Amino acid sequence: MKQIFLSPPHMSGNEQKYIAEVFESNYIAPVGAMLTRFEDEVKKATECENALAVVNGTSAIHLALRVLGIGEGDDVLASTFTFIGSINAILYQKANPVFIDSDESWNLSPKLLKEYLQTCEKKPKALVVTHLYGQMAKIEEIAAICKERSIYLIEDAAESLGAFYEGRASGTFGDFGVFSFNGNKILTTSSGGMLVSKNAEWMKKAAFYATQAKEDKPYYEHVEFGYNYRMSNVLAAIGVAQMEVLSERVKACRKNFELYKEAFSKEINEGKITFMPEIEASEGNRWLTTLTFKESSIDKIIAHLQENKIESRHLWKPMHLQPLFKDAKRVVDGTSEQLFATGICLPSGSDLSSDELQRVVKLVKEVM
Ligand SMILES: *Cc1c(COP(=O)(O)O)cnc(C)c1O
Repeated sequence: MKQIFLSPPHMSGNEQKYIAEVFESNYIAPVGAMLTRFEDEVKKATECENALAVVNGTSAIHLALRVLGIGEGDDVLASTFTFIGSINAILYQKANPVFIDSDESWNLSPKLLKEYLQTCEKKPKALVVTHLYGQMAKIEEIAAICKERSIYLIEDAAESLGAFYEGRASGTFGDFGVFSFNGNKILTTSSGGMLVSKNAEWMKKAAFYATQAKEDKPYYEHVEFGYNYRMSNVLAAIGVAQMEVLSERVKACRKNFELYKEAFSKEINEGKITFMPEIEASEGNRWLTTLTFKESSIDKIIAHLQENKIESRHLWKPMHLQPLFKDAKRVVDGTSEQLFATGICLPSGSDLSSDELQRVVKLVKEVM
């Protein structure tokens, strides 16, 4: 039996052609025309004026925090139900994450966020909100809360490229948006990230920090320290080819979800299974199809799939449960803990065949 991965890279067919163009130009470097092309494609897809291609999504979050002046001792709010990549950048800036739990959307709860802001002694400087598994958080409400209190908003849209809320792209509601092109995301450049913002000045500053903070002088002059975060022009070529198929990939992932839902319709009706919801007025990319089980042992299901060469995965372990964050501030009500204890991600590749998908379903049903 062929191995089925959770979300393997899915090339469009044009990647090697564009890589060949890069080789012909000999811009095998973190500069070149392909970077601009890749950024232009992301700008077009998100209707955002500025984009900067960087080495990964984590570095994009880091640049956003640095540009916004988040520093030592500052409090930064964040989704607790997320991947560590969302949070590490906060630590790079020596700031303190404050974790907010999810609500029924599985994403950050605006209600808990508001409650915290009404009672906290120290005003947080920023919020990093994740659109989990490609499904939109209640971003309009969250953005309004941040705006009212002058809290910077960074959207971790690493998983949600191609997702929309009221027709507006994820990543464009906050001060900064971040996308990831890691190997298992809906599009990939093997590794890569993109920072977007409406604010051209901030983006100029981000590009400056991403290229060793070299002053505008004919020689190498440095007033501040920076990073070597710029993406390679070679990888940008992969990105250009991948962006051509973004809407196809979203369609395929959404179809996976629909097929899973159909195949488990009886279990859904009986209340044994619940899929991650899609909030009103939004269209997620369904990067991963995720679901919780009412009674079944998820360890048993994951092990059974693995025995059959199928990769599945626990949902993210909430950050406030991580030993690393045992002392971090938190506003939690058990929602993400419950999701973590009962949920898994199913194989969701955009190239998953319906036969493969049905094989996954059959195996899950055998042990649930
Ligand atoms: C993948 C991911 C990141 C980090 O992106 P990298 O490109 O791997 O650095 C950050 N946040 C979330 C929610 C992610 O899923």
